[in-house]
Amino acid sequence: MAALMLQKAVGDSWSIELIESSKLGIIGVGEGSTPALKSFFDEVGIPEYEWMPACSATYKTGITFDRWSEKPGFESYFHPFYSYFDRDHAKALIHNSIVRRSGKNVHAHPNVFAYNHYLSEKKLCPVTPYHFPFEVQYGYHFDAGLLAQFLKQIALARGVAHRDTLITDVTLNGIGNISSVSDEMGEKFLADWFVDCSGFAALLIGDALKTPFKSYADTLWNDRAVTLAMPPEKEPSCETVSTALKSGWAWRIPLQSRVGYGYVYSSRYTSAEEAEAELREHAGADTSVDARHLSMKIGRRELHWVKNCVAVGLSQGFIEPLEATSLALTQQTISRFINAFKYGNTDQGFRDIFNRSVNKSYDDVRDYISVHFLINGRSDTQYWVDNREKPGPASREISAVFNCWFDSGDLPGLLKHLKIDGAYSNHSWHYILCGMGLFPDETGLELPSQEDIDKVNLENFREFFNRCALNHQPHGEFLNGLSNNKT
Ligand SMILES: Cc1cc2nc3c(=O)[nH]c(=O)nc-3n(C[C@H](O)[C@H](O)[C@H](O)COP(=O)(O)OP(=O)(O)OC[C@H]3O[C@@H](n4cnc5c(N)ncnc54)[C@H](O)[C@@H]3O)c2cc1C
Repeated sequence: MAALMLQKAVGDSWSIELIESSKLGIIGVGEGSTPALKSFFDEVGIPEYEWMPACSATYKTGITFDRWSEKPGFESYFHPFYSYFDRDHAKALIHNSIVRRSGKNVHAHPNVFAYNHYLSEKKLCPVTPYHFPFEVQYGYHFDAGLLAQFLKQIALARGVAHRDTLITDVTLNGIGNISSVSDEMGEKFLADWFVDCSGFAALLIGDALKTPFKSYADTLWNDRAVTLAMPPEKEPSCETVSTALKSGWAWRIPLQSRVGYGYVYSSRYTSAEEAEAELREHAGADTSVDARHLSMKIGRRELHWVKNCVAVGLSQGFIEPLEATSLALTQQTISRFINAFKYGNTDQGFRDIFNRSVNKSYDDVRDYISVHFLINGRSDTQYWVDNREKPGPASREISAVFNCWFDSGDLPGLLKHLKIDGAYSNHSWHYILCGMGLFPDETGLELPSQEDIDKVNLENFREFFNRCALNHQPHGEFLNGLSNNKT
């Protein structure tokens, strides 16, 4: 991604070389994205009909969170990618959430307020074959190994050089800049700029430049994952499903060639063997299906741009993949670096601003992810009880969000004031707080006023969605036609 974006931005004025080692390979997991990935492909000029069939990709309208709460009526909810098209529906949800928080009985479960949920329920593709006047936001699911191969081929074709070799040494000059990296044969690679894409190894930003790592382990406890691949669905759905298990949660991601499962869990609460057995049972996988175990280092570097090195991807940080945000943060970091060059901003003052803004993006995502665990409504295992009752320190921002929510305050206003609606919009905050049923108990709810009842007509929404849906094809059918549909 970094090589392609840089190549697109600077053309032939820089010579870009990607060095990687097939002895180490890539991490090869990470099958879900946010809508940001669409803008990456648009920016580098690669159409869906080219990359999606090559990477076994499917469309994604959002994430279903299953069994994160035992609260009746709130055992499952959908976090859609918000489209402007849904603004009136989202306004209605916000209205009903205020009424419900005040103890009156109106419908405030988010699913019926989001068109993307409707599409996912009906397995309809978010892209329409013909002109549809509303823009529907979507992300993708894909095979991470195939995507890396695909991007590499395109980058090579566009003039990026490539070396398959193992880097063993990094040399700094007198002012602390990286002057070269050397491989195991002793060959030196000199450059003006180095982009550290070495994954969790963080060869340049960590080992060579000694940039401290800020762990998020106090608030995000999951540090391991185990994955499995199952046969593809006949009719591929267009949603990720995240199901709460005993000591973490499991993703279910439909690709064209398989359904990917992964259990993200805390090693403090379960062992690798128990986690694998639990995932096998959840996915219906017998022992003939191979499982892969991974460790995750959760947190971020204190600085991402140091001297003449910028770290992107896992080398700069990782937040557990609950909302599939890693590639979006990676892409955002590369864009910010490119913009710095565009405007000639590479001095130390600007680097400080760059590092602060990248840190803020990571911390804001960390906060939103941590809320899923803080407000979970499960009591079946110690993991869930502890996450709710003995959580790590909440950020100032999260405390303010909860105070506002329970005091019937103006949440959209607060999020804007705190400047935390960049990573997750006010709609996403409502989807999660309403979806987990963070309301007064059902018993004792009063009847709403006639004005409140009249304000939100759910029948009208459904009727509107039904009519809009006539423009969409079944997801599987659209995918099958994608290679031939070069529009
Ligand atoms: C369990 C899990 C689930 C995830 N799910 C998602 C998701 O749903 N969505 C999402 O956006 N992201 C997800 N991610 C993150 C995603 O996998 C990464 O952001 C993405 O794969 C990019 O990784 P990377 O390129 O930074 O690192 P890697 O893929 O590890 O690549 C590192 C590269 O550096 C090279 N290298 C390292 N050391 C050397 C050396 N000494 N010499 C030469 N080359 C070297 C390697 O050969 C490799 O090519 C997930 C991650 C994990 C762990």
